[in-house]
Amino acid sequence: MSTRDFLEKDYYKTLGVPKDATADQIKKAYRKLARTYHPDANKGDTVAEDRFKEISEAYDVLSDTKRRAEYDEARTLFGSGGGFRAPGGGTGGAGVPFDFGDVFGGGAGGLGDVLGGLFGNRAGGTRTAARRGADVESTVTLSFDDAVRGATLPLRMASEQACPTCRGTGGRDGALPAQCPVCHGSGQTSRNQGGFAFAEPCRECRGRGLVVDDPCPDCRGSGRAMGQRTLTVRIPAGVKDGQRIRLKGKGGPGERGGPAGDLFVVVKVTPHRLFGRSGDNLTLTVPVSFAEAALGAEVKVPTLDGGPVTLRLPSGTANGRTFRVRGKGAPRKDGTRGDLLVTVEVAVPTKLAPEARSAVEAFRDATAGEDPRSGLLDGSRTGG
Ligand SMILES: [Zn+2]
Ligand SMILES: [Zn+2]
Repeated sequence: MSTRDFLEKDYYKTLGVPKDATADQIKKAYRKLARTYHPDANKGDTVAEDRFKEISEAYDVLSDTKRRAEYDEARTLFGSGGGFRAPGGGTGGAGVPFDFGDVFGGGAGGLGDVLGGLFGNRAGGTRTAARRGADVESTVTLSFDDAVRGATLPLRMASEQACPTCRGTGGRDGALPAQCPVCHGSGQTSRNQGGFAFAEPCRECRGRGLVVDDPCPDCRGSGRAMGQRTLTVRIPAGVKDGQRIRLKGKGGPGERGGPAGDLFVVVKVTPHRLFGRSGDNLTLTVPVSFAEAALGAEVKVPTLDGGPVTLRLPSGTANGRTFRVRGKGAPRKDGTRGDLLVTVEVAVPTKLAPEARSAVEAFRDATAGEDPRSGLLDGSRTGG
């Protein structure tokens, strides 16, 4: 067991026995649990399989007087809230004299190993302890409507998963692996060099802590395989183009009981033919005629969902003026909606029928005295 295993795993809890349980109580508890969770009695149940491994691991340590004492001592030294205590002064929990070097792989280098194990593992540098799965990023492309309303969609992605042939055990026909005899399951061996001890991944088991006599031919004993998995992803209403959505625990699987990583879904939103987005608001540009803008009008405008709404333009509406239609925008998290912002754009006819031409000419003549550029060239009126 690595130091980290010692610190993170509560073997007493795993076996459901008190800290001062006798060897006999531990054996009885183990046998009862092992019968319940044995893989032969739970074919294909990976939860039971994992539980069985935990139970076996706990029993391996607690049934061995020396290792149990080491375990108790390590937890006393480094366990929750205990802080760091100088080595050499303690007595093992089971009354066995405690030797710092014994616990952590020997000699003067013991302390270095402990610290290396604690901090190295935490930084994810070695494979010996429980390791969190990798974060995975994937991209989905949503229609504008789906982005506004929210959507549930399948996301197919390549992922590392348990080898289907051996169900992740790494052994032929699903045979269970055995604890590595070289590193005793820690996945780590220590090497002495120049008076310092270095922890390195066990060569026998390549850091896995487990060995198989007859490896599964498909995964060559690793228990892992690349596969496709399909996740159903719920994209919340109102996502924006380029937004990253974090799906906790949906990333790569953890190792040695570690938690899965996270999946980040980057959303690409295809533009809409009519509508745009501005935060929670939808935007829409509506062409109006000069006459409508000048005289005022009622204009029907579309909404993204639901029927058109009538927009009342006052007379003398300027080109580019924006009107707000409340509650017709994108949904917000709290269930309310943003607004629809309608910008009018005065359309200038490119062709005029003779009758329309005469009318425009009559309008020009009628407004000959009003120069829209009067303030532009007349110096006396600047700043007014
Ligand atoms: Zn396999
Ligand atoms: Zn090993």
